[in-house]
Amino acid sequence: MRIYNTLSRKKEDFVPINQGKIKMYCCGPTVYNYFHIGNARPFLFFDVVRRYFEYLGNEVIYVMNITDIDDKLIDQSLREKKSVQEISQKYIKAFYEDTKALCIKPAVFHPKATEYIGKMIKFIKELENKGFAYEKDGDVYFSVEEFKEYGKLSHRKIEDLKVGARVKANLNKKNPADFTLWKKAKAGEPEWGSPWGKGRPGWHTECVVMSQDLLGESFDIHGGGMDLQFPHHENEIAQAEALSGKPMVNYWMHNGFLNINGEKMSKSLDNFFITRDILKEYEPETIRFFFLSKHYRSPIDFNDGLMEESRNAMANFYNSLTNISFLDFWKDDIEYSPEILEFEKKFKDSMNDDFNTAKSIATLFELNKIIRNENKYSLKIRKQAAMMMTKLGRVLGFFENIDSLIKAETDHLSGDLINLLIEYRNDFKVDKNWKMADKIRNDLKKIGIELIDKKDEVVWKKIL
Ligand code: AMP
Ligand code: ZN
Repeated sequence: MRIYNTLSRKKEDFVPINQGKIKMYCCGPTVYNYFHIGNARPFLFFDVVRRYFEYLGNEVIYVMNITDIDDKLIDQSLREKKSVQEISQKYIKAFYEDTKALCIKPAVFHPKATEYIGKMIKFIKELENKGFAYEKDGDVYFSVEEFKEYGKLSHRKIEDLKVGARVKANLNKKNPADFTLWKKAKAGEPEWGSPWGKGRPGWHTECVVMSQDLLGESFDIHGGGMDLQFPHHENEIAQAEALSGKPMVNYWMHNGFLNINGEKMSKSLDNFFITRDILKEYEPETIRFFFLSKHYRSPIDFNDGLMEESRNAMANFYNSLTNISFLDFWKDDIEYSPEILEFEKKFKDSMNDDFNTAKSIATLFELNKIIRNENKYSLKIRKQAAMMMTKLGRVLGFFENIDSLIKAETDHLSGDLINLLIEYRNDFKVDKNWKMADKIRNDLKKIGIELIDKKDEVVWKKIL
């Protein structure tokens, strides 16, 4: 398997630290609001990374933090006139609901920053003791000049950073590029006692302490959106490696942006849609298909046209599965013929090439063609193709709700049948065949469907 590593800016062979046990971390939400559909991209993509490793037979220890203390939470608590804790509880609940709705499996651990304050203080103290950090007026800063490899992830030089950071110069910092590890609390803000006075830890420290606590000093994969490369991940590396002297992470993976009209979707630009609203318009699998039909490092533009295409593609898959009466056999463990197994190999080749989900979806389309081609393929091969399409699709988080979706399909079909009966009844009425018209009405009633005659149309409803 090859993975594009932001550290080297190259695809590298993937060699896990422990064979068969993958340790990965992805930066999670700051719970001050509902997450938008751009934020959903890393959550959804790293869910697929995790699923693929599991499908290959690995155990995956997947950690995603929850940032439940931060300036944005404090601002939101003032806006909503609630405590910071009430705000975080509300949006943590929403985060679990919305990720579940998107068929994103919960991580193995979802640590919260506020549960790690003690460990963070200890970590910062150690950095201070070893000369990597200094305190000034109750704030503690990391001294970037003390970490010789600073800038290795984002490929930036400290000299260049100085120019950028000078705009909002903070005279307490030794170097304008130094970043905050501990922030002194202002009156009324949530605070914790520390050797430097009351305050709270910085975001960059949070991710280092929680990831290393649960995954160890060095682990395999760290992910997030590409905007996190700098400063967040650069600063994680600086703190972690300054203390341990070892690589914190072997493979740094970053997803590209979800754009809207060519611009990054973000709260600050106010061009965002929250995921729970998008879920009212589009099915979870449509959303998954939309993201995964593009390579994770490419930008993707959010628009209704692409969403409709994704919806049609998923509907096409489902139609094939329902038409082949797939439901009654799909759980069976079957032995595949070599021509179907070939598609599994193709799928893996695509995924092994830096998680090329776009190409792996093309394999699902090829299987779909086989399912539909009655002239060329036997029923046995077509059923095997259906089974394989489901098995591989599930690695991408598709077909999770196959039972309920097939039920929805059936409901849709029943609706069509009732409408057909209404049409027949109208025809009978035109022919003044009242007996048959009444029979349709009464028989439908017996199965729980009531017909309501309106002025120009007949509508139906379920009798509850
Ligand atoms: P935040 O709450 O801003 O820290 O973002 C949570 C995650 O979403 C991070 O991994 C970000 O990099 C990612 N993210 C934010 N906006 C976008 C976007 N428009 N497209 C893709 N990923 C994003
Ligand atoms: Zn993080």
